[in-house]
Amino acid sequence: MAGFRVHISTGVVAGGVLFGLSLEKFELTTSLLSLGALILGSVAPDVDSPNSKSRRYIFRIFLVILITYSLYYSVEKKLNGLYLLAIPTAIFLLFQFVFQPLFTKYTVHRGAFHTIPMGVLQSSLFFLVLQTKNSIWISISFIIGFLIHLLLDELYAFIHVKGLKIRHKKSFGTAFKWFAPSFWSNITIYLLIAIFYYIYQKEIHHQFSLLFNIL
Ligand SMILES: [Zn+2]
Repeated sequence: MAGFRVHISTGVVAGGVLFGLSLEKFELTTSLLSLGALILGSVAPDVDSPNSKSRRYIFRIFLVILITYSLYYSVEKKLNGLYLLAIPTAIFLLFQFVFQPLFTKYTVHRGAFHTIPMGVLQSSLFFLVLQTKNSIWISISFIIGFLIHLLLDELYAFIHVKGLKIRHKKSFGTAFKWFAPSFWSNITIYLLIAIFYYIYQKEIHHQFSLLFNIL
């Protein structure tokens, strides 16, 4: 398995290249978002690895986004000061003591999170949250980063130098894959992708045709 430093450096370099290419076709905000999405994608699969830096950073980013959004929501809805304190505290406690332990219990390293469809599923979140005319480009950037991660893991397992010999690690073939080891994980992931596609197919097709015109 390639370590965090390898993944993040590769993500930054690939993201930089994509950012340069994006700037020629899209405005600055879209290009910056595609850079961020690619870097995030390049570390995202290791969220299934307990105590990994990737998990720590991604969870922190996720928590900050949730709390910021809750504050924004409370101010927007003019909720009283008690809610401004209570909602973020509740989110923090639930995240720390319910979500994190459950996530650790039900995930295995190199399981469902190291699969191609999981990258597609996670990329759909960018499409759902951003809702701009170029959201599909941000989703694609995330998938590129995600696939680079999976390929790097495979490469590091394929070329494993032990002493003077090159050996293949047991983990070879467990990262770049279409299916998770668990039957129910596969059903859930593919079903969610199908539902997402079914609901947003019109917008997805529209954005793809715009993208082909731009590129
Ligand atoms: Zn990995």
